[in-house]
Amino acid sequence: MAAKRQGTRNDSGTGGRTGTGTGSRTGTGGGTGTGTGRSWWGWGRTEEALPDSECTALAALFPGLPSEPLPVPDLAAIDLPRPRVEPPAALAHLVSDGPADRAAHTYGKAYRDVVRALHGDLSAAPDLVAFPGTEAELVDLLDWAAARNVAAIPYGGGSSVVGGVEYRGGDHAGVLTLDMSAMDRVLEVDTVSRAARIQAGVFGPALEGQLREHGAGMTLRHFPQSFEFSTLGGWLATRAGGHYATLHTRIDDLVESMRVVTPAGTSESWRLPGSGAGPSPDRLFLGSEGTLGVITEAWMRLQDRPVHKASAAVRFTGFADAVEAVRAVSQSGLHPANCRLLDPGEAALAGAAHDGESVLVLGVESAHRPVDGQLAELCALAADHGGFVPGQGDGSGGSGGGSGGGVASGGSGGSADSGDEAVGAWRSAFLRMPYMRDGLARMSAITETFETACTWDRFTALHDAVRTGIGAAVEEITGGPGLVNCRLTHVYPDGAAPYFTVIAAGRRGQEAAMWDEIKSAAMEVLARHGATVTHHHAVGRDHRPGYDRQRPEPFALALRAAKSALDPSGILNPGVLFDASGGEAGG
Ligand SMILES: Cc1cc2nc3c(=O)[nH]c(=O)nc-3n(C[C@H](O)[C@H](O)[C@H](O)COP(=O)(O)OP(=O)(O)OC[C@H]3O[C@@H](n4cnc5c(N)ncnc54)[C@H](O)[C@@H]3O)c2cc1C
Repeated sequence: MAAKRQGTRNDSGTGGRTGTGTGSRTGTGGGTGTGTGRSWWGWGRTEEALPDSECTALAALFPGLPSEPLPVPDLAAIDLPRPRVEPPAALAHLVSDGPADRAAHTYGKAYRDVVRALHGDLSAAPDLVAFPGTEAELVDLLDWAAARNVAAIPYGGGSSVVGGVEYRGGDHAGVLTLDMSAMDRVLEVDTVSRAARIQAGVFGPALEGQLREHGAGMTLRHFPQSFEFSTLGGWLATRAGGHYATLHTRIDDLVESMRVVTPAGTSESWRLPGSGAGPSPDRLFLGSEGTLGVITEAWMRLQDRPVHKASAAVRFTGFADAVEAVRAVSQSGLHPANCRLLDPGEAALAGAAHDGESVLVLGVESAHRPVDGQLAELCALAADHGGFVPGQGDGSGGSGGGSGGGVASGGSGGSADSGDEAVGAWRSAFLRMPYMRDGLARMSAITETFETACTWDRFTALHDAVRTGIGAAVEEITGGPGLVNCRLTHVYPDGAAPYFTVIAAGRRGQEAAMWDEIKSAAMEVLARHGATVTHHHAVGRDHRPGYDRQRPEPFALALRAAKSALDPSGILNPGVLFDASGGEAGG
């Protein structure tokens, strides 16, 4: 069959080691520049994964884990369900049914996804994976899917951590994943208004690389932790949070207009710097998570590349003082680009402090003016709440003096960042962490994160309840103690987004089920404290119960009506935001 032919084009069919088909496509599209393979079962690139010896060494830090890692799964040894549908001949050149492509598109990259792949569970594999290169091809694929009641799952980089790209049942005749990575160009740059028209399937590094090639010195500057392996379309569809810790942290703020192909037609909003004309069409599609249409391109606001940067790592002996310092920073109007607070456990995991202290990583940047004074003011605020830098007095000495408030800081006027080892340790741990998570998963550790946001007045109660409640749940579910660490990833004048990391010994073969129990205990605590089900990881399938509770009923009604109007056959990403039943947009 034609699809088979294409399967072998994209897909070596040997699998197991690199997930060659999609791996090499996204490896190239991802602009990593290495030409190396993406892992089909875990995070990132295959060659970056921890070797067995490092998995074992890491696991030795956590009591109760097995002594041998689970083997890296061999795709050739895994039975995938047979494809239930075939594409029509006219579309066959766009479609693969090869095992490596299907395996690589089965899950996102949450812990439970990695664990299921490690155990060879690919029962949810899509029947087909399509790689449209144009909008016309995408329309044809959607038309075919709607006519055949085939579920269509838009797919960017597949870095979803909430079950956003995984089909979990419904009454569909088959499942077609729509991999957008062939639509990966920066099409136009408007240097006058400082914006660019960008295709949705471009990965972070390729997007920035193409903007750089354009030579206007501009950048989108949206850097989620998953930057290397996620796409513009995915960021828009999930309302991703970038590296900016304050002010414009969310991709929403960078959108000028969007183009979305829906089964009911193509929606394109006007390019406008602002508009008060009724509810915003872009707001309907931002966060729609592939349920209302496929985002094909967007005009995105650009900015000049920063050339002045400085950063500092401030320590606190008490976490509560550190939280107060962060609140003061968030309400100061100084808007640091980075403002990550690591509690003692998180600081130790990142290698930023090993003495029970909390670490606040502050970063400032500007394309236009030196930033030393801004950093000094921020550090002085931190010092007012007991922040200090070892060996540099009480941290208040440099306030206003441009020296970084007595805190180690990089100078402005270049790209030099802080010389402080803690800042560097945090940065490299930040990028390495997903690989370490996969290494621990191979040792059957439960190792996952969840995040939320609440207003400052409720922060302390929420934080304490999570630490206590999840600590108890971990102990009950795993039969032993676990780590529950916290860092603040984004802060606002009125609240903060705490991000929790849980590490505990799991039972081999039951890791995903054990995590699900812990996660559902966490969701209960969040709901009790009026905290959101997610700050930036999206709803997907995993957060549906919490999202259903969080959204007001009249809004749910309006959303269901939008779903019925735009996707009358109910084929788009069933089970995300709405019930999975085809034809009708349920609750
Ligand atoms: C290690 C790690 C770190 C992460 N760090 C961050 C972070 O710092 N900030 C953050 O916000 N998130 C983070 N995430 C979550 C994830 O990277 C984001 O949700 C990201 O925006 C997903 O982009 P993607 O291209 O990988 O999309 P996918 O995972 O492929 O898809 C995500 C959702 O968007 C839909 N979708 C994808 N493309 C389109 C399109 N073109 N049109 C319509 N719908 C589409 C999919 O159907 C799905 O529902 C992280 C995840 C991991 C594993």
